[in-house]
Amino acid sequence: MNQTVSSEDNPFLAMQARLDLAAEKLGLEPNIVAILRTCEREIRISMPVVMDDGSVQVFEGYRVQHSTSRGPAKGGLRFAPNVNRDEVRALAAWMTWKCAVVNVPFGGGKGGVICDPFKMSKGELERVTRRYVAGIMDLLGPDRDVPAPDMGTDGQVMAWFMDTYSMHARSYLPAIVTGKPISLGGSLGRIEATGRGVMLCTREALRHLGMKASSCTAAVQGAGNVGLISAMQLASIGVKVIAISDVHGGLINEKGLDLAAIAAHLQRHRRLDGYEGGTRISNAEILELPVDILVPAATENVITSQNAPNIKARILTEGANGPCTANADRILDEKGVFVIPDILANAGGVTVSYFEWVQDRMAFFWTQKEVEERMEHIMVDSFAAVVDMAKRFGVSNRIAAYMLGVNRVAETTRMRGIYA
Ligand code: NAD
Repeated sequence: MNQTVSSEDNPFLAMQARLDLAAEKLGLEPNIVAILRTCEREIRISMPVVMDDGSVQVFEGYRVQHSTSRGPAKGGLRFAPNVNRDEVRALAAWMTWKCAVVNVPFGGGKGGVICDPFKMSKGELERVTRRYVAGIMDLLGPDRDVPAPDMGTDGQVMAWFMDTYSMHARSYLPAIVTGKPISLGGSLGRIEATGRGVMLCTREALRHLGMKASSCTAAVQGAGNVGLISAMQLASIGVKVIAISDVHGGLINEKGLDLAAIAAHLQRHRRLDGYEGGTRISNAEILELPVDILVPAATENVITSQNAPNIKARILTEGANGPCTANADRILDEKGVFVIPDILANAGGVTVSYFEWVQDRMAFFWTQKEVEERMEHIMVDSFAAVVDMAKRFGVSNRIAAYMLGVNRVAETTRMRGIYA
């Protein structure tokens, strides 16, 4: 794989740019940086799948393991039409840093299939999933590579994933994947974990900045697992959520949105269109609203050098992976926006995925309270560690989070040595 696109929009180049800055501040040896800048293993597969109408469609799938220095590769599986190699590589590397920031014993990986899950039947999605698992079987394993849901995939996809792997392995192996339904070894608290982590980081930022949740407004881009649950979690601490969007556009209601009604609408229609309790706005407008808290929770590269000057929020909590480009970072820093970077802000998901993997391996399950308390502890400590690092080194929260994560991976890489 040698796709290289040099533009502000290439998330892998953006990841490398931030890694280089963090490495420089840490004074890391060039040999270690050279290792961390690349992905350990990448696979691209062609997947012929019989569609409902009898035709055969050949899908393209990827799995990238950026690092297994600290543990098995960990990271989601994305089903989306715009999946590409450099995106999967970037997402894999971000997983490495994220797992290290919250100090869970995993490396980083990511997978993707170029498809539009909204245009496929349940049967077609199942066949694509099973074919994908069979195609990358040799890379997977509870001690090798443990996927999870991401954009366009959910608990049902994880159930098919676990079943296909277990059938081939002739064993019941729930720890092969996380984000499963509870009845198949999923963890209590996993569905809401990413959004809850977004809320916990935002709550800590409010405390840090001396702001009161009940006096704040928020806008959330994305109404999926991360966006909708982040919105609900923020509302639960008193924040007034006035705007939310999905891929087709957004809704605003200055009085505060009825999120339970929106969730019910989405359950029925799968999109925000048709919901009456707000005025329609565009996805571009939602990002520039005069709110206290902005949560981009949809996809990459939505805040760029073009619109960063117009961001008005005081706190920007990155629910999505890579919503801000490296060029936008500089502008947001100059404006004094308090950015909670993705590799910290959305790490609640992988933290509870780690708990799920541990529970599956023990075959002993925790209560929701145990999951939530342990997760809160990790998120609050990690937030404090990032803010402390930013202060000590005089860097942005983003570079501080990279420094924290990269340094931990550099240490294991150095200690393991180079096998030749
Ligand atoms: P999802 O598929 O459940 O929801 C995605 C939402 O974003 C949907 O509402 C969709 O309509 C909207 N969307 C998609 N493209 C958009 C665009 N171009 N503009 C505006 N809206 C758009 O996905 P998710 O699991 O909520 O993931 C969202 C983001 O969070 C991704 O960046 C993902 O990598 C990241 N993330 C997810 C998890 C998790 O546990 N699911 C954990 C960490 C990070």
